Amino acid sequence: MCQFFKDVLHMGELASGAKLTVPVYHLKGRNSHKPNSPKVYIQANMHGAEVQGNAVIFQLLELLKDIDFQGEITLVPYANPVACNHKNGEYTLGRFDPITGVNWNRMYHFDDGFIPEFVQQYSDSHKLEIETAFKQKLQQIMIDKLEHNQYGLTTGQRIAYQLQKMAHQADIVLDLHTGPISSKHLYCPEYAQQSARYFNIEHTILIPNVFDGAMDEATFCPWWTLQNEFAKQGRNIHFNKESFTVELGSQEQIDLAVAKQDATSILTYLAAKQVLVNSDFVPENMTRYACYLKDYKAFYSPMGGMVDYLAEFGKPLAAGEPLVKILRMDNYGDGDAIHYLSLDHEVLPILHFASASVNQGTELYKVFTNFFKL
Ligand SMILES: [Zn+2]
Repeated sequence: MCQFFKDVLHMGELASGAKLTVPVYHLKGRNSHKPNSPKVYIQANMHGAEVQGNAVIFQLLELLKDIDFQGEITLVPYANPVACNHKNGEYTLGRFDPITGVNWNRMYHFDDGFIPEFVQQYSDSHKLEIETAFKQKLQQIMIDKLEHNQYGLTTGQRIAYQLQKMAHQADIVLDLHTGPISSKHLYCPEYAQQSARYFNIEHTILIPNVFDGAMDEATFCPWWTLQNEFAKQGRNIHFNKESFTVELGSQEQIDLAVAKQDATSILTYLAAKQVLVNSDFVPENMTRYACYLKDYKAFYSPMGGMVDYLAEFGKPLAAGEPLVKILRMDNYGDGDAIHYLSLDHEVLPILHFASASVNQGTELYKVFTNFFKL
């Protein structure tokens, strides 16, 4: 039904001259040549161990063969070819650039300095004209950084900016990640809270208009800031651009059956956003919990030891109920070998550390506090 194209993107070079490449799949549906047709960008595996998004992209490609849709869908598995090959023993590392130590998902770019002048220039333009010009401007910023910068870029910036350049062509951006050992959860801009209900995901973190280097922020903060700047000038325009980080569960796992459910969840969202034509995808009935980013807390271990993770994901945990049991064999016989750790208020556990041995200060759990039903 749709047209299928495959590209290979050159992301960089290794010392030996070997090329770092990434496959890029383009699906063109109805009216894809029209400037107002929807454009969707989906990438996976920016963090090396977070591989399940590649399986979700496989299932999306399979399912979309038989689905009628408008516009264009771009799919990028293995988005970071350095991280997904970064092994140590039996584990994939790939969360931080091993050269600089920077998190691979904190290297995208956004500087809002150009937006007031842009709004002056387009103050009386039609919405579509503004959108087209703004997308071009965002892409041009990335091109300038990639091609007209004599001091060069770090390996991670070069990868991130090439991905971001593609993402800036889109109206909808999904960055597929996973936690370490984790429930499914969604990072959603506060203004798009309504859309979190279209995904079959029980936990949503609502994030403000603050850029901290991640792909979702790099692609929604510009539009949010643009909208605010127009509002300051007395013009209310809703650009309807949305970006999410979709956390698919645990790292180091490929499960094609679960990937099909996750692909269906994404298609349900795309149906609600009218990218799909005449589809019958309906969001599943489930209790969806949300909290604001400021209330999404990491619980750091007050002690070293061997951990039994007790708290289940997605079930409210009462104040005083233990999150973990910690074994300290060095204390056996002359002290406490078993320690229970709890918090003095109700929380909703979302993910925990991947290893059973922890140092003092290891991030044991991440939990929702002050959570509410969406
Ligand atoms: Zn990640």
